[in-house]
Parts: sequence; structure tokens; C-alpha cells
Amino acid sequence: MFNDGLRVRQEAYEAGLPYVTDADLSARLTACKAAPERAWLADVSAVILQQSLADLNRAYRNFFASATGKRKGPKVAPPRFRSRKDRRQAIRFTANARFAVTAVGKLRLPKVGDVPVRWSRRLPSVPSSVTVILDAAGRYFASFVVETDSGPLPTAEPVVGIDLGLTHFAVLSDGRKIASPQFLRRAEKKLRRAQQALSRKQRGSRNRDKARVKVARAHARAADARRDFHHQLSAALIRDSQAVAVEDLAVKGLARTRLAKSVQDAGWRAFVRMLEYKARLHGREFHRIGRFVPTSQTCSACGVKDGPKPLHVRAWQCQRCGAWLDRDVNAAVNVAKAAGLAVSACGAQVRPGATPAQRNEAGTLPKSRQEVA
Ligand SMILES: [Zn+2]
Repeated sequence: MFNDGLRVRQEAYEAGLPYVTDADLSARLTACKAAPERAWLADVSAVILQQSLADLNRAYRNFFASATGKRKGPKVAPPRFRSRKDRRQAIRFTANARFAVTAVGKLRLPKVGDVPVRWSRRLPSVPSSVTVILDAAGRYFASFVVETDSGPLPTAEPVVGIDLGLTHFAVLSDGRKIASPQFLRRAEKKLRRAQQALSRKQRGSRNRDKARVKVARAHARAADARRDFHHQLSAALIRDSQAVAVEDLAVKGLARTRLAKSVQDAGWRAFVRMLEYKARLHGREFHRIGRFVPTSQTCSACGVKDGPKPLHVRAWQCQRCGAWLDRDVNAAVNVAKAAGLAVSACGAQVRPGATPAQRNEAGTLPKSRQEVA
């Protein structure tokens, strides 16, 4: 349906005819459905076909809005043909399709039947639509649209600056250093092993196919674990802080070209996006610190700029005020200060020669390992 609709519009465009309206397109394709070679379209719910067209219409609207400058952000490309070989496949049922969750917790889908579901959480209200997704690893997901009542969170006092670093996933201006949790590191290790196993298999062999499926699954698990960690950490930070500041990653990218890993960069970007939308959702301030703020060159205690330091220098003493500074925490405090947030610099200070004491603080930031300097 999506491809048929796209073809109709492309042909109209190439023939110099006016844009085929949504209603016109729907009527034309309904007529096509009657053709004998399209009889199989009757095997699926009509709502799925309508929703495919709705997707196409939305893709066109986004494209036009982007082309005319009404839509901000990166340029949107015109809709492209879909393939049954696409790595991700999805269908959507709206309330009109009369899908339902049965008393025993199965998902009843029209013309599909009752599907067993492993629920990740209770639905907070009656869903208005459900999208069934098949991902690259061959797993099926049901994603519901529900209405929830997420008012602003209670007022929290502190403000927090966040430095996304190499030695830790994140370092906070209050001195906390957050490493990737065990479950994520385990998933990433398994992924690396699966990739190594794949590279040893002979091209075109059946074992190679099997190994490839294993890599896809390990990939999916690591991605899920990573997303889970990002959700937990961003939720905790937004809950506990009135304002959150983070450095623009474009800047970080420049500073770390040699050490940069694209996976890590993508992870940070996803994490920062979560922080941003959760802040908006819960009425918290969110700041992104722009270019040319030298967060690692400035003493967070007295503000003196004493120039860049090589990466192996993890702590130093400020030549002006004498404060001992931890590199990562100092940067996090500077991020908060650059956002105009009043934050204490003492988090950045370390005792000379002191090794950071480690202790667990389960409860504040679930499942993530914390070290307190
Ligand atoms: Zn100083």
C-alpha cells in the first residue's frame, strides 16, 4: 500500500500533474484492492493498510515542511520505497481495528488472533493504538500508545553539571562518577565474542549464517541494555535535580578525535536526548553548553584559565588559588557554571595524592556503579 501510494504520487509528479490528495489516493488504492492480483490484501486488517497510507502522507508532509523551511532540524528526504527485506517491519492497529488485550493478558489482533505477550509493564490506561514491530534480530514487539498523567515532579534543590567522559560514562558536578553498569558491560562483551566468532567462519558457509544471527541477537541485547541504563540514569538525574547542564557533544567530538568511538558517541547522544525530553516533561531546566567553553582548562574554584592539559593528567593543583582539582569533576562543575547555574566547586576538589574511595550507593542511581571521590 505504501509503495503503491508512493508510485501513484511519483507518477503524477513526473507527468506534471497536481499532488494527489490524501483522500484521492485512498480512494484510488481502495479500487486497486478489488483487482485479483491484489486479493491477498484482504488477508490483513483494512486498518493496517490505511495506517500505511497515513505513514506515507506523514512522510510527504514532513518532506514538504522541511523543504519550505517550516520544519526545523536536519533536512527530511522524500519518502522512499519500502521492501520486504527491510530490517525493521511494522504494522499499526488503531482503536478502529478493534484490537484488545484479553482477560488472560494476550493481545487480540484482527485477522491474526490471540498473541501471547511478555508484558514489560502494566498499561496505565486503555491504549489508543498498538504497533507490532519485527526487529533486525527477529524479535516481535508490541508498542502501545497510552495516555498518562505525568505532572511536574516535586521541587528538587540541587543543580547538576554533567561531563561525559572516557574514564566514566558520566561525571557529575557533585563529585559522583558513574560507570557503565555490569549488565551493560556483560552484554557488550558477549557482542564482541559473537563478532569474533563470526569473523572466523568461512564465507558462504551455513555456520557463518548461524553466527550472523547470533551477532544480530547480541547486538539487540546490548542495545537494549544500553537504552535501559540511559533511561535509568536520565530518570534519576531529572528526578533529583532542578536543573541539568551538559556539554554539547559537537565540542567533545573535536576534543577526542583520536580516542572517539562512534558507538560511545551515539550512546551519549541518545542519553542527552533523553535528559532533554525528560526535563521538558517534568518541568526541569535543561542546558546545553555550546562551543568554546574550555571546561577542562578553567579552575572551577577561582575561574583562572591555565590552558590545556594532556589527557593523562587526571588531577592538578590550581596555581592561583591552590585548589586540588579532579579533571572530570572540574569539567562537570564548569559545565554547570557555564549554564549560569550556581553550583559548589568543592565537588571538584580532591585531596592531594588521595585515591578515590569506592562505595555503592544503590537506591539513588539504580544498577549503576558509582564511585565517590
Ligand atoms: Zn583556582
